[in-house]
Amino acid sequence: MITRSLTHSRSNSMAAFGTQFTAKMVTSRFRDGQWSDLEVVPVEPFSMHPATHVLHYASECFEGLKAYRTESGDIHLFRPDRHVERMLNSASQLLLPVPDRAALTRALHMAVAAVAEEIPAYPGALYLRPTLLGTEEDIGAAARPTQKALFYVLTSPVGDYFSGGLQPLRVKVDDKAQRCTPSFGAVKTGGNYAAAMRQIVQAKQELGTDQVLFAPGGVIQETGAANFILIDDKELLTKPLDGSILPGVTRDSILALAADAGLTVRETDFTVAELLQRAPGAEAALTGTAAVLTPVGELVYEGETIRVGDGQMGPWSAQLREQLCAIQSGASEDPHGWRVTLES
Ligand SMILES: *Cc1c(COP(=O)(O)O)cnc(C)c1O
Repeated sequence: MITRSLTHSRSNSMAAFGTQFTAKMVTSRFRDGQWSDLEVVPVEPFSMHPATHVLHYASECFEGLKAYRTESGDIHLFRPDRHVERMLNSASQLLLPVPDRAALTRALHMAVAAVAEEIPAYPGALYLRPTLLGTEEDIGAAARPTQKALFYVLTSPVGDYFSGGLQPLRVKVDDKAQRCTPSFGAVKTGGNYAAAMRQIVQAKQELGTDQVLFAPGGVIQETGAANFILIDDKELLTKPLDGSILPGVTRDSILALAADAGLTVRETDFTVAELLQRAPGAEAALTGTAAVLTPVGELVYEGETIRVGDGQMGPWSAQLREQLCAIQSGASEDPHGWRVTLES
């Protein structure tokens, strides 16, 4: 996700998030009803026929997760099982062939092992981008699934997202626009980003906002690439997983830590009116793999700016963020078994 903090924060030695890659990736190709063996190959431009399915009919989905190097030198993935599960679901919604659960999991481990020396020390990490796309060369296949596919795991060393400090976001609350087509809310596909982009760019131009919080029909959903939480009066509110939002792994982790910390976690629908009414005494934040947890300092609704709390990161947000980061970095215990250590 693009946050204001991103532009302030890249450390000098690291390129901006998303622009620097390792030289190796893992691939597999699907043809004649079969996936080829996973292979480690150089990261190079693909050659594709102009009629390739994904280029016309957006047969594509992806994942985003991180591997961390701990103080002791161990390398672990954070909740890879959840990302594998989600990719299986995305592929099935898009009628894309997909390697099975075991192969997807093995691909993640292979991709990390292939570039293990290049994983920056915490707060740096290795960002993994598993990607699946339809490669059949047939522009007539608009209404049937691709018979060929390509799967790859691209990796990117990332620096400290927040070396410039955590800057609270300014977020437009939009009670009209849809982020994506309703039945695709839980699918991590490029088409959803394409559908939301115009709203986000327009809000930035007109209101100087960083993100749009989509709330079609007045019910709070999420932003273009991150889940939304509201913390107020010892309870944490967030939209239930009803298929309209992405089931974020960070969201799930923060909810678990919030419950551990004694907050009442309520996965329940709440309205724009309720959000705006509670905001001045509350905390709000976005959650996602790239930025973990980013505070929301201001909401903009119908041209009016409403400050969330004192506009800075609140104590619960800071605590939950710190606890999750400590688990991810290996600095604390892992009570929920979220770290999956790489076999060496
Ligand atoms: C990827 C994504 C998220 C965050 O999911 P994480 O698993 O926490 O990284 C949230 N919303 C959308 C729309 C996404 O694409």
